[in-house]
Amino acid sequence: MRKLIIAANWKMNKGPQETESFITEFNNLLQSETDQVDVVISPSFISLPKAQELLADTAVGLSAQDVSDQDSGAYTGEVSVSMLKEVGVEYVILGHSERRTLYGDTDAFINSKLKKTLEAGLIPIFCIGETLEERESGKLESVLETQIKGGLAGIVAADLSELVIAYEPVWAIGTGVTATSQQAQDTHVIVRRLLAEQIGQELSDKVRIQYGGSVKPDNAKELFSQPDIDGALVGGASLQPDSFYALAEIGANL
Ligand code: PEP
Repeated sequence: MRKLIIAANWKMNKGPQETESFITEFNNLLQSETDQVDVVISPSFISLPKAQELLADTAVGLSAQDVSDQDSGAYTGEVSVSMLKEVGVEYVILGHSERRTLYGDTDAFINSKLKKTLEAGLIPIFCIGETLEERESGKLESVLETQIKGGLAGIVAADLSELVIAYEPVWAIGTGVTATSQQAQDTHVIVRRLLAEQIGQELSDKVRIQYGGSVKPDNAKELFSQPDIDGALVGGASLQPDSFYALAEIGANL
């Protein structure tokens, strides 16, 4: 049985002050949901220390939205795994479609960040997903296969026991359009099969595959009820404490 993992991706929203207001309110709402589901918040780098301070006494996990593939040195603007660990980060989102399309993150670059993340003992939330054009032209499976093979190249299966995958169809991110629960379930089955080819069936059955793309309290129950959907990576609906809490509550009460 895989435990659901519901992760907020705040993107470039909320500095330390807004982070403080959100988490203070969120902590007040949170009851025992984290017994049933893993809940994770991913603020911007600058807000991580404030988030860590406020989440320290909770079971809510802390994630970064990206990381450098280098340890230290002349890499202006970058943040290393050791810096993330110093501020209590446990997860790192890698390969988000916005990083792929706006900042040129390739499968090879994501692979090198993923290796760094695993070496540091942090848990990758590895994002994959197709564009609408790719889906409509029958390339869904080959796109996912390229992303999975490229992203996980050269990593031994045993190191991936805690891997989290976020399947995020690009056409559903921030658009208000959600994949139907059946479309998402069907694609998660494909992802799990492709993953099994890479790391073996036993491990693949343990990997949590989140769905991401306009998840909100209205559609979460149906999505979370699918057998291969193990939670969500959430953008828009994670920006308000009440809607993000509602997602945790729905997951905990399935
Ligand atoms: C995301 O950015 O990972 C995401 C899924 O965003 P939204 O929930 O806003 O579609």
